[in-house]
Amino acid sequence: MDTETNGLNVALISIVVPAYNEAESVKILTDEITAVMDEMDQAFEIIFVDDGSTDETPKALAELSSDHEHIKTITFRRNFGKAAALDAGFSAAQGEIVFTMDADLQDDPAEIPNFLRAIAEGADVVSGWKHVRHDPIDKTLPSKVFNGVVGRLSAVKLNDFNCGFKAYRSEALEALTLYGELHRFIPVLLHWKGFRIAEVPVNHRARQYGKSKYGISRLFKGALDLMGVMLNTRFATRPLHVFGGAGMVFGTIGFAALSYLTVLWFIGAGPIGNRPLLLFGMLMVMTAFQFLTIGLLGEFIQRQSATKQRRYTIRDTQNIQLRRRSTGHLVDDLLLAAARMKEAQAKWTPQPFATTQPSDTSTNTPTKTRSTS
Ligand code: UDP
Ligand code: MG
Repeated sequence: MDTETNGLNVALISIVVPAYNEAESVKILTDEITAVMDEMDQAFEIIFVDDGSTDETPKALAELSSDHEHIKTITFRRNFGKAAALDAGFSAAQGEIVFTMDADLQDDPAEIPNFLRAIAEGADVVSGWKHVRHDPIDKTLPSKVFNGVVGRLSAVKLNDFNCGFKAYRSEALEALTLYGELHRFIPVLLHWKGFRIAEVPVNHRARQYGKSKYGISRLFKGALDLMGVMLNTRFATRPLHVFGGAGMVFGTIGFAALSYLTVLWFIGAGPIGNRPLLLFGMLMVMTAFQFLTIGLLGEFIQRQSATKQRRYTIRDTQNIQLRRRSTGHLVDDLLLAAARMKEAQAKWTPQPFATTQPSDTSTNTPTKTRSTS
């Protein structure tokens, strides 16, 4: 199972495909993926998630799955959306590397080796970039705006955030919580969890069968989701900085306005009760108090949930002794998870970052790692 092209030695690759009314495409996609995997002599599984299709998709998938054990299907009771479909697929995926692809044949499986190469070079997440896009203008233009705004606000440098074609080291997916329509922000969510994101240009094809599932409403939903995502990534651990910061700005303006009026009043420069500036100053001070208290509330909620949720991710550990049993304590659980991940990883990657080969004459050199003999 060695894929010579990329230097990775992966026992199993999972490909998660969300499908909503894509009956004509799933068989063709399966054949295309199979051809690429066979070429690489790579073991793989395809996990189709039928997101409540109302066409012949369930039948087409049932046929594929009954013929081949490595073609798996999850069927939703109704349409729950792409993010939910991806989430279900991720939890079923058993591979060390997990791909996602759209079912509509717009993503070209021939690009898979390029994703693997980027992972071998050190990326945890590789996102496709539809540099030449075969979609109508009402899709490409909003998409340009979306990518520009998200890139600027999230500080993640990608040309294309919402490409359905992506590859992940499985441990990145364990840190991912997807719901609503957050699939558009996966690179942002994972970047802020500390994973390394790379981008590869991909061949994009025009939709052959069926029609697009998304209309203009996605722009508005995307804009709202962006605010939510920013709050949960960039500013997640410091609500008081965000809201308190805004409060300080408003408060300073209001304080300056009211101080000015107070001075006027003291030196007897006319009545101030009828000045619009008085109203303005009071409004500013009240707004400031509101922002401050929201920030404090946020801080309070943050303190409560910080003990239950992991806010950080661990890449590696050295000489950490493990308790064999989970104590239910956050840090113990995290260390345990990281160590398990390391053990699992040692089995499948031939140390992609190693610059020197270990020589067999190193019998007496002191070593930091535990002896495995
Ligand atoms: N999709 C899904 N559930 C939905 C909408 C879409 O699983 O509610 C799938 C769809 O079948 C396709 C992928 O998500 O495989 C991308 O959808 P689409 O091609 O309509 O998006 P576009 O390419 O137009 O952005
Ligand atoms: Mg599409």
